Amino acid sequence: MPRLEYKIALITGAARGIGAAIATAFVAEGAHVDLSDLAGSGGERRAAALGPNAHWLELDVRDEDHWQRAMMTVLDQAGRLDVLVNNAGITGFEDGAPQDPEHASLDAWRAVMTTNLDGVFLGCRHAIRAMRAGGGTGAIINLSSRSGQVGIAGAAAYAASKAGVRNHSKTVALYCAEQGLAIRCNSLHPGAILTPMWDAVLGEGPEREANLAAFAQDTPLRRFGTSEEVAAVAVMLASDECTYMTGAELTIDGGLLAGSAAAPSGN
Ligand code: NDP
Repeated sequence: MPRLEYKIALITGAARGIGAAIATAFVAEGAHVDLSDLAGSGGERRAAALGPNAHWLELDVRDEDHWQRAMMTVLDQAGRLDVLVNNAGITGFEDGAPQDPEHASLDAWRAVMTTNLDGVFLGCRHAIRAMRAGGGTGAIINLSSRSGQVGIAGAAAYAASKAGVRNHSKTVALYCAEQGLAIRCNSLHPGAILTPMWDAVLGEGPEREANLAAFAQDTPLRRFGTSEEVAAVAVMLASDECTYMTGAELTIDGGLLAGSAAAPSGN
């Protein structure tokens, strides 16, 4: 039996990368999925390619009016929301501005925070309300990062925003439990997953090849992860196999955080 049969799911930032892979996996497991993203992201085409159980919704996660409209659409069409995946996120590297703690501008810091942290806050808030209205059951999955578990010298706002997502997920989990709601909230912490998000960091041509090799070398499994490998864990968290998991953080990083770069050689 499909693992997400009859589930109604909303995924943000689903036009490409990890969000698109999660949408594909959810549909394959029997869910009805609303793929959302920014206008002009190509999300309509992605949704159309996934067949009749996938629908397109324009949703800029920074905009509370968009959230209200999206939730109204989901509830009008399906009567309830079972799963929200807060996936949309940016690194801040997209426009080439410095992101280290000494040189990042306040505007650059706020831009990352608004998408990554305000977006997740709004998503959780509106999902709790929609799930409560639909019977008080559901799963919220927040995309944090391994950068939410350790500091990143050149990506101050990204790391701080993802640490915020990690912590807020636990707060949401506790709040829902305290309210007597069967709404679970967990965070995912991918390491290096090869998606378009990396384009600004990796460069092009031979430089890209060298950078790819260097990143792979730093990872115990010696390769980048795939979006499908993250999607597989999201399916598990969204399913009824995980009904006793809430406030948990799952690392999907090829072993990166399992040890330390200064590995002891023997004793
Ligand atoms: P991508 O950049 O490939 O995809 C992100 C998607 O989010 C894009 O379609 C983008 O749209 C969309 N998006 C950006 N801003 C908004 C917004 N304000 N509202 C709605 N959608 C928006 O990223 P990934 O697939 O790699 O990453 C997905 C999530 O996983 C992110 O939260 C990321 O931080 C996290 N993650 C990724 C890792 C990786 O190695 N790839 C590692 C750890 C965490 P557009 O293209 O139009 O800007």
